[in-house]
Amino acid sequence: MAYQYDLFVIGAGSGGVRASRVAASKGYKVAVAEGSALGGTCVNIGCVPKKLFVYGSEYGHGFEEAAGYGWSHKGVEFDWSVLRDNKNKEIERLNGIYGNMLGNAGVEVISGYASFVDAHTVEVAGKTYTAERILIAVGAKPFIPEFSGSDLVVSSNEMFYLDALPNKALVVGGGYIAVEFAGILNGLGVDTALAYRGDQVLRGFDEDIRAFASEEYNKSGVDVRLNTDVESIELVDPSKPDGERLVRFKDGHTETFGLILYATGRVPNVGSLALDKAGIETGKNGAVKVDNNFTTTAPSVFALGDVTDNIQLTPVAIKEAMALIDYWFEGKEVSFDYDNIPTAVFSQPAIGTVGLSEQEAEARGLDFRVYQTDFRAMKHTLSGATTRSMMKLLVNNADEKVIGAHMVGDYAGEIIQGLGIAIKAGATKADFDSTVGVHPTSAEEFVTFS
Ligand code: NDP
Repeated sequence: MAYQYDLFVIGAGSGGVRASRVAASKGYKVAVAEGSALGGTCVNIGCVPKKLFVYGSEYGHGFEEAAGYGWSHKGVEFDWSVLRDNKNKEIERLNGIYGNMLGNAGVEVISGYASFVDAHTVEVAGKTYTAERILIAVGAKPFIPEFSGSDLVVSSNEMFYLDALPNKALVVGGGYIAVEFAGILNGLGVDTALAYRGDQVLRGFDEDIRAFASEEYNKSGVDVRLNTDVESIELVDPSKPDGERLVRFKDGHTETFGLILYATGRVPNVGSLALDKAGIETGKNGAVKVDNNFTTTAPSVFALGDVTDNIQLTPVAIKEAMALIDYWFEGKEVSFDYDNIPTAVFSQPAIGTVGLSEQEAEARGLDFRVYQTDFRAMKHTLSGATTRSMMKLLVNNADEKVIGAHMVGDYAGEIIQGLGIAIKAGATKADFDSTVGVHPTSAEEFVTFS
């Protein structure tokens, strides 16, 4: 049967854009449907604007720290609308670049949200389109638990477009988004509390990193409240829907905040896809089930990125898209390696991590040794800041390979990228030791452990 397209992609985010662009550049007839701005979460309401906000917020500490270096800075003021609007302009520029990239590659961009008619047909804005293959790359959306007053909180989506910053904010959650936004708000001068329901933030990270980072967040000014959960929220003055919120915590304590951000995880964005019409099954939290070749339970439909149950990271979705293209058009079986994926949390200070945590190495029954240090980075000897950095290296005793590297401190994301290559390549402790350090840097600590 002849189809209108070789490939129809649903969602023009990181994975969808890469898959459609590369497929079209190979001569295939490709369309991508997107109901919102091109670029998806990462470009519009995720990694990119978040990093711009982190840069903006770091100046808050930077002005204070510059005094130790001789700078005086009387009358420093911050204007949220300038940061927000400049960020908006940059994102619009990127949206344009994505549009041009897709257009130049020959991808037809269809505006609207797609839903399945059958396993080869989708409908967008009342029109149907048929394709030999359909790729679901719709990502995820914020999850906010339901409770009395949950309509009075915002998700990370709204944080990028706030009319004004509050004087005092509560961030609920202990994952990437919670600690990143707590740092952003704190750096921009907002009195910020972070409420996490468990014993320590950043579940899944190395325990030492979690404890160290949490302590550093406190030192930087974020009021980290562990084992703290919200019972209910109400308006202080019901006639002012944008006014102060009264939070009742589960321990009975009450407090008012101008803004409450719930960063309590993200769930697959499958609601409007009508997956059942194509026989596509979902699993945990509504994630689309895929096999090793990203094929769903409908053989002509594929899925990748945050809509599946794999790791929710932009570069992972992009690599999955490239692997899928090779599978489709080169006939290569996908063997995607989800081990040793380096990642950074852009909190303040930042965290960089690759490989196994101490707890994961223990759970695997490995015989390993740990090298660990913490220190005051050179920059802060004059800045007066009390912040400290921490680094940790895990070495497998059986083959001497470095199996984990973790860091809290300035430039952690930049540093961990290089270590990710070394660990992926199977570097041993001796390889690290024989590497000459770059002096004076924090990074050189990784090659001077003894
Ligand atoms: P995470 O899954 O990382 O964290 C969710 C947090 O919310 C956890 O601390 C969780 O607690 C808590 N939580 C969940 N449900 C509730 C509830 N009902 N009440 C109170 N707390 C709750 O999600 P994020 O939204 O922070 O981020 C989503 C994903 O996006 C990340 O996993 C990451 O892959 C990606 N991301 C990556 C970034 C980067 O690379 N720098 C930046 C931002 C996001 P508990 O631990 O107890 O379950």
